[in-house]
Amino acid sequence: MFQKKDKQPTACASGASPSVNASRDADDEKALKENLSRITRKIVVLSGKGGVGKSTVAVNLAVSLAARKLRTGLLDIDIHGPSVPTLLGLQGAKIAVTGENKIHPVEYNEYLRVMSVGFLLSDHNDAVIWRGPLKYGIIKQFLKDVEWGDLDYLIVDSPPGTGDEPLSVCQLIDRAEGAVIVTTPQEVALIDVRKSITFCRQLNMPVLGVVENMSGFVCPHCGKESPIFKNGGGKAMADDMGVPFLGAIPIEPGIVQNGDAGTPFHNAAVQNATPAQRAFSSIIDALNPTKGERS
Ligand code: ADP
Repeated sequence: MFQKKDKQPTACASGASPSVNASRDADDEKALKENLSRITRKIVVLSGKGGVGKSTVAVNLAVSLAARKLRTGLLDIDIHGPSVPTLLGLQGAKIAVTGENKIHPVEYNEYLRVMSVGFLLSDHNDAVIWRGPLKYGIIKQFLKDVEWGDLDYLIVDSPPGTGDEPLSVCQLIDRAEGAVIVTTPQEVALIDVRKSITFCRQLNMPVLGVVENMSGFVCPHCGKESPIFKNGGGKAMADDMGVPFLGAIPIEPGIVQNGDAGTPFHNAAVQNATPAQRAFSSIIDALNPTKGERS
């Protein structure tokens, strides 16, 4: 026989009364708003599929903004496959937790602060097995409890697709600048990136533009270009969906070497920039990064 339910539950599973929970939620909301209010522009980097170079773009975007002396934060919410620590050579970096349960991010340099679930794992081979509510909780904590300080930009590297993590971050960030969407040129990737654009529209997240990565390969020996994954598909799709196209980055073996070595491939100081570095610079210019208040 079923047991009769209490008419008026007086406590939740945590043992706290509903009124205590409600005031805790209100305190959380206030703390979240306060922390985010110190960050002028928040950009979420999304992709329809994995492996298209989304983290590479997010990391190099953050490093480039920091190189322009813009105070930047990089938040990696790819809970199941955090690659930001590797791409920045920060494996093994430890975060500090202050007395008030605030989390101090890892300082990559004077202008760039980084937070990733990867910093919380004792072994980088560990797998995180979490369901939606737990993911929402940790993303909220990263936005609320990490001491980002006053930032010009927060770049969020989100996992591919339109699941729990991108949904949580888009809901938690109030007044985001918008999303940068990374794709590769072939049709299987473009189908999914269209979904990412629809996802942004449903959540009122402006689309700042599409980046077509791995767009053709220029042979370093003969200079001939081979469209390994085709090219031009990202621009055609962006035009069709009515969103800006930010630029195309070719395939360059140096990008893999840089990623594996933990050094960003975009380096504003290089004299003889490669085609990919030049392409990346013009993507940053197209985003028109600025200091100061939003208009
Ligand atoms: P995602 O975040 O979409 O899963 P990553 O940024 O981790 O993708 O990139 C996947 C792999 O592709 C990495 O090894 C990275 O170095 C490589 N890569 C990214 N962009 C390029 C490019 N334009 N040319 C060559 N390799 C690239």
